[in-house]
Amino acid sequence: MTTTTAGNTGAERVTDRQPTAELGVIGGSGLYALLDDVVEVRVETPYGPPSDALFVGEVAGRRVAFLPRHGRGHGLPPHRINYRANLWALHALGVRQVLGPCAVGGLRAEYGPGTLLVPDQFVDRTSGRVQTYYDGRVLPDGSVPEVVHVSMADPYCPPGRGAALAAARDLAWEPVDGGTLVVVEGPRFSTRAESRWFTANGWSVVGMTGHPEAVLARELGLCYTSLALVTDLDAGVESGEGVTHAEVLEVFARNVDRLRTVLFKALESLPATRDCPCSHALDGLVTGLAGVPS
Ligand SMILES: [Zn+2]
Repeated sequence: MTTTTAGNTGAERVTDRQPTAELGVIGGSGLYALLDDVVEVRVETPYGPPSDALFVGEVAGRRVAFLPRHGRGHGLPPHRINYRANLWALHALGVRQVLGPCAVGGLRAEYGPGTLLVPDQFVDRTSGRVQTYYDGRVLPDGSVPEVVHVSMADPYCPPGRGAALAAARDLAWEPVDGGTLVVVEGPRFSTRAESRWFTANGWSVVGMTGHPEAVLARELGLCYTSLALVTDLDAGVESGEGVTHAEVLEVFARNVDRLRTVLFKALESLPATRDCPCSHALDGLVTGLAGVPS
């Protein structure tokens, strides 16, 4: 693990400090920029490198690690993100509660751009993504993961969802409490037929990164909360040319300040000690992974 410290001056210095963090955010690279004093930590994992360095700072006295999901230059498309390395790196720093903001398309006319939805379910429509740590392959340190089947009946952390919802309401940004996030492989957007099918199934929003993030978090016994920001109406709902990437970026930029404020407020109010179902996901299990559960 190597670390550098970046302050407001932009100057960086190498430090021997081994920073730890209790809370994590996987999101856009604009988020860590608000912090005055960020320690940049490069973490090596048995699964290869995470999307970027982790940026560790403080929010209201809590140690928080930020990880830019797509890398700081947004160079990684959703299907090429090393999700296992990302969650492992956060866990290795000591993070036990993770907030995962993401951009999504609305599958109902009432979920227009600017809607914040805190899902309580997801549906996996990805293909080919590695979605488990427990695949029996020997790791570089010689450890061998056991066969482990975690419950995903309720994929998101109840206190985490509560903190996110309360933080949004504090800002008078009334969130949608619950709903189903369908996660597609991407990087292309949905066809109209796919989108109409998602809506017909009763699903709420569609994104590209919520899976396998939530699953891998659960497999490490971490709390995970998704905050889905609607940037567009998906192709089956709107009548124009369909979603464009420029449209997504424009709406995200317009909302990023208040999303950042919601995240910071939610981080402040996450419980100091955990007793939620996610914290007990690995109780009584032997995982074969070093440090898991811990
Ligand atoms: Zn939890």
